[in-house]
Amino acid sequence: MISFKHITFMPLLLTLSLSATEGIPQESPQSWFDAGQAVVARNKSYRYAQADIPIAKNIILFIGDGMGVSTVTAARILEGQLRGEPGEENELFFEEFPNVALSKTYNSDRQVPDSAGTMTAMTTGVKTDMGLIAVNEYVVRGNCDSQSGNHLQTILESAEQHGMATGVVTTARLTHATPASNYAHIMEREFEDDQDGPRFSNPGDCADIARQLIEFSVNNPGSDGLEVALGGGRQSFLPARPNADPETGNPGERLDGRDLTTEWLENHSNADYVWNKQQFEAIDPARTDHLLGLFDPSHMAYSLDIDSDQGGEPSLSEMTAKAIRLLDKNDKGFYLNVEAGRIDHAHHAVNPKRALLDTIELARAVKTAYEMVDLEETLIIVTADHSHVFTIAGYPIRGNPILGKAVNVDSSGESENASALARDGMPYTTLGYQNGEGFHFLPGTNTADSIHRTDVNTAGRSDLTDIDTTHEGFHSETVVPLRQETHAGEDVAIYAVGPGADLVRGVMEQNVIFHIMMEASQLEQR
Ligand SMILES: [Mg+2]
Ligand SMILES: [Zn+2]
Repeated sequence: MISFKHITFMPLLLTLSLSATEGIPQESPQSWFDAGQAVVARNKSYRYAQADIPIAKNIILFIGDGMGVSTVTAARILEGQLRGEPGEENELFFEEFPNVALSKTYNSDRQVPDSAGTMTAMTTGVKTDMGLIAVNEYVVRGNCDSQSGNHLQTILESAEQHGMATGVVTTARLTHATPASNYAHIMEREFEDDQDGPRFSNPGDCADIARQLIEFSVNNPGSDGLEVALGGGRQSFLPARPNADPETGNPGERLDGRDLTTEWLENHSNADYVWNKQQFEAIDPARTDHLLGLFDPSHMAYSLDIDSDQGGEPSLSEMTAKAIRLLDKNDKGFYLNVEAGRIDHAHHAVNPKRALLDTIELARAVKTAYEMVDLEETLIIVTADHSHVFTIAGYPIRGNPILGKAVNVDSSGESENASALARDGMPYTTLGYQNGEGFHFLPGTNTADSIHRTDVNTAGRSDLTDIDTTHEGFHSETVVPLRQETHAGEDVAIYAVGPGADLVRGVMEQNVIFHIMMEASQLEQR
């Protein structure tokens, strides 16, 4: 029994019970949902002033994809160092939020999760298997026939049904797992457009993710569709004919010949579609009710590379600001999900500089939102879907460049002024990965493509003595050589401010985040 001031709390026996035969919990979509609600009830009991909690009219859920705690720490240090400070004492904007908790990220079938299962937990309140989007663990991945009866209602769908405005903003493809888990139900995250279809068992003719975004209002009677959808992934919306893409002149990917960008305009009232920064900036949110922006054929640029994008792209902060201006017109409030989707991609490529700069841009986007909304009526949550095998190691001196080689402290407390040497006589970096493409990549060119180079060195450590490890093309050393660096399974942090933020506390299953958003907004009671 835990005693908390006047409140005595008996730990709740959640609906998970142990199976005598297998020794693993008997879980079900319903048990995940019920257990999540029970945690919210428990956390409500910790409140001192039960009556004075205002309702969160608006909800903004920020996701740093792959933004584990070590990523937040390293980004905080880099942000300070970019201002000429030591860095360790710095705080990213959202680290000042009053409520923090830990989120257990495992999928119902995986110790280390992916973005589909984890985001489904946050958007539906139910944990599910890896690769599944807003469908429960009874679905067989890649099998359309198994979807029937197993859809999970998302918070975005509930918000639409209650007349709220809704939006999804991401630097990844809009059809990627995290954004898709808001508006689509699909047995396979990679089914982004119909060209992907033949790879899966699709006899029930499940609609691809891009179609589900454009057809949302058609599939959800009573909803007028999403108000904001901004990100990359244009290829899945354009027909596979020459010159379909205005930026590249390449064909799109749709084999059905449909141009979903024009269908967006047909399916929504007072709608606009933009594909470059200039068009984006010309949009007046007061005069547009439904805005689709597709700024790249695939993922948008990393923050580091944004100025070199051919057609020009808005930043995550700029997209967040425009989204809020548009959504805030609705008197009933809004639900907005903003994803920094490429922290994850840079980590997979063991390229810490891009991962950390995208994390810093996420913090800017959070600050932008924070300063625009009324915190008396807006709940802001910042979290990650999962972590990465990314570490901050050695005993470098305070203020040592976070992207640099470790420099130790001598016996008098001064900098040794030379890289510390490992037992093989070679220097090593502070940042590193437990697995990934190899031991060391040489600095590449100044393009984002350099992070996908394949000149992997599996022979052992390389001598970094003359290598600039702070260069954007530098790829960190890894211990286990895998084709791609993997996610990590430890908990991630949740940061919250606004009405209901006090429910974010302790160590929580990731799906509890959904139940907190539902309780804070009283969405179903409106
Ligand atoms: Mg709507
Ligand atoms: Zn990933």
